[in-house]
Amino acid sequence: MTSASSGTAGSLWEATAVGEAAWPTLRGDRRADVAVVGGGYTGCAAALALAGAGTRVALVEAKTIGWGASGRTGGQVIPGLKFDPDELEAMFGPELGPRFVATVAGTGDEVFGLIDKHGITCDATRRGWLQPAVSPRAVEVVKQRCAQWARRGAPVSLVDRARMAELIGSDLYFGGWEDRRAGHVQPLSFNRGLAAAAQRAGAEIYVDSPATSLERQDGRWRLTTPAGSVTADTVLIGTNGYTDGLWPGLARTVVPMMSFQAATVPLPPALGRAILPGGHCASDTRRLLWYFRRDAAGRLLMGGRAPYREDLGPADAGLVRAAVDRLYPQLREVPFEFHWSGRVAMTRDHLPHLHQLAPGVWAALGYNGRGVGMAPLLGRLLAELVLGAKPADIPFPVTAMRPIPGYPFTRLVARALVRYYRLRDSIEHA
Ligand SMILES: Cc1cc2nc3c(=O)[nH]c(=O)nc-3n(C[C@H](O)[C@H](O)[C@H](O)COP(=O)(O)OP(=O)(O)OC[C@H]3O[C@@H](n4cnc5c(N)ncnc54)[C@H](O)[C@@H]3O)c2cc1C
Repeated sequence: MTSASSGTAGSLWEATAVGEAAWPTLRGDRRADVAVVGGGYTGCAAALALAGAGTRVALVEAKTIGWGASGRTGGQVIPGLKFDPDELEAMFGPELGPRFVATVAGTGDEVFGLIDKHGITCDATRRGWLQPAVSPRAVEVVKQRCAQWARRGAPVSLVDRARMAELIGSDLYFGGWEDRRAGHVQPLSFNRGLAAAAQRAGAEIYVDSPATSLERQDGRWRLTTPAGSVTADTVLIGTNGYTDGLWPGLARTVVPMMSFQAATVPLPPALGRAILPGGHCASDTRRLLWYFRRDAAGRLLMGGRAPYREDLGPADAGLVRAAVDRLYPQLREVPFEFHWSGRVAMTRDHLPHLHQLAPGVWAALGYNGRGVGMAPLLGRLLAELVLGAKPADIPFPVTAMRPIPGYPFTRLVARALVRYYRLRDSIEHA
């Protein structure tokens, strides 16, 4: 079994991605209109939109393109956020609310539109997402969710228990709903494709170039890396769960949690035929959800929340092994070929955040596990702000950064909650 606990090297995505390129390291002093920090979806989508509009962009990534969560995700492109659309409209009011909901509803179009427009090869598949319900009570919750999206014209439908058993290939669930706006991608290939498209549009992309300081100098921002610097009018920060101390306090606006995934060997047709036969991806209604899908070679991928440690290894695969064995007992003897993990950035209000940190410094982060769609979207909105849009023009609130008070305590509470939720899930859905 190949492992990738603290990097993407050795993950399924690293082993199967296309589009690897010899990006240079930043050496010497560069001048740009915009400096972007972070080579995940947020940073690369922002760089692409800006370079496409004729802006001089230099992106610095501490490790390699896709090294963070974007190269490790489940690759599930799920429109919307974890709140239901009625809740979001109530939160944001009659003016911003409907525009906000329409925007987050469009993340599937955003991602698959970028893939089409830039010809990105990334096993893109748009056959929908299933949210199977783990209890009769959860069926009632998803009925409301589905009805709210249907009222807004989304291509969604309720799925009864028998049909869900066929679509998942397991009779574990009580029914659920299907969202046909969704799909999945090879996430590292998608990330590399965004970076390559940004470079073709004129952006400079630098790897192994951690930004170690950011200072105001002669009316501009100077971003320093170990071997160089970028001086720019504007700086965009897209570092999500891997945010460090570059901008004081920003790391304390998100609580990083670990998500762990494993992939089986490609399933032989006799075993694989009945498992997700419609090509859906899925994540269920547990408090600590199981998320699963097939890859292009027919492997089954299973992911879930793991203890917070950077050195997660084979011994930690037990939780996802138990999920696979429970859902698909016929796969008990099928070994895992890969496992890996990464940081998901949670926020206190469970919403992604777009901040203006200072005049000319912006950040987007805190995707709460929905970043495959949301991060490219917020990357584009960051670019629109740089290109002259006013915060009120964009369909997403621009807020001041608010570090979480009592941060170390919050992290401890969040991790204790994970243990509590795991216990509740195991009691209620034994
Ligand atoms: C295991 C896992 C499974 C997931 N599954 C899904 C899923 O199926 N669907 C979904 O919607 N979401 C999923 N997510 C969440 C999603 O992957 C993220 O929200 C999204 O990728 C965040 O993108 P980003 O570009 O903002 O951050 P990242 O991709 O994390 O990129 C941030 C980058 O910033 C770099 N960086 C940090 N500090 C500096 C610095 N000082 N200088 C230079 N570079 C720096 C890091 O090296 C990193 O590469 C998952 C996450 C994980 C970890």
